[in-house]
Amino acid sequence: MIRLSRMRLMVTGGAGYIGSVCAARLVESGHDVVVLDDLSTGHRDAVPAGCRFVEGAVKDAGAVLAEGFDGVLHFAARSLVAESMAQPQRYWLGNVVATVGLLEAMREHGTPRMVFSSTAATYGEPASVPIAEDAVTRPTNPYGATKLAIDHAIGSYAIAHGIAAVSLRYFNVAGAYGRYGERHTLETHLIPLILQVALGHQEKIMVFGEDWPTPDGTCIRDYIHVVDLADAHERALEQAVPGEHRIYNLGNGTGFSVRQVLDTCRTVTGHPIPARSAARRLGDPAVLIASSDRAHRELGWKPERADLAVIVADAWKFALGAG
Ligand code: UDP
Repeated sequence: MIRLSRMRLMVTGGAGYIGSVCAARLVESGHDVVVLDDLSTGHRDAVPAGCRFVEGAVKDAGAVLAEGFDGVLHFAARSLVAESMAQPQRYWLGNVVATVGLLEAMREHGTPRMVFSSTAATYGEPASVPIAEDAVTRPTNPYGATKLAIDHAIGSYAIAHGIAAVSLRYFNVAGAYGRYGERHTLETHLIPLILQVALGHQEKIMVFGEDWPTPDGTCIRDYIHVVDLADAHERALEQAVPGEHRIYNLGNGTGFSVRQVLDTCRTVTGHPIPARSAARRLGDPAVLIASSDRAHRELGWKPERADLAVIVADAWKFALGAG
């Protein structure tokens, strides 16, 4: 990989799951990292050692950027599909308006680089899988729509103001990095919920739909290890080109059904993990699988922890420590 010298970086949302893992890896790579997080969903003790922590909202980023930075990694966002359907204002204000403010602050203070947490939800229900970056973007919920709107805003700022920008569209992120892992107060994701059952915190897991047009009737997703995801961020940061906005999908290119995930979790934890059939969840597509060919080709990125058992084992180690 091309290694740039030490960079001064601002990580928004660095007290959250993916942001804390990325911030920890950036510090280990020798960068100087400031975490900006309002702790609305993150945790103060998740801010990695070696980072300076500023408690504040994205809208206050200008005061930090005024100190002079080489780049921003922007993770802070609202990210719950159901909440976005019920309270879209939180997403349009908290995601879109806040990020346009961040771009304005970057312009004002001459911050040259940005890496943004985008999502597969920008594509909506895919016409075919695997999904490449040139697929139609037709989000089916306000969460995906706000992330797509931000991608457009970043694109126009990159072209007009010379920012070197990359949007990374995550598929299903899971796993952990040592003491940095998934710890949402309101947990909705499959793997951490299953592990709560294995820990004895929940009685059973609900399987949302067993009548999908898939081989075992449950939804298929592309699970990617959070450390592989973090590595892609570093590559994106180092290879971003001034005046360009590049978009990359990040997944393993392999799908696992909810039943397959459950079986892997049973094997890893040795717990029977009772499951019950439940109704389909509103807005769920049947199958989401990434084509990450562009990231392989242009960033030289290759996931090294693609085995679902490894992903679950790391999440389980974290859950045992945190739970
Ligand atoms: N899922 C499930 N039970 C749960 C949580 C999730 O069956 O308690 C299913 C969900 O319908 C989807 C898959 O697991 O098919 C992954 O869901 P998750 O919320 O983890 O990620 P998403 O794909 O929605 O981003």
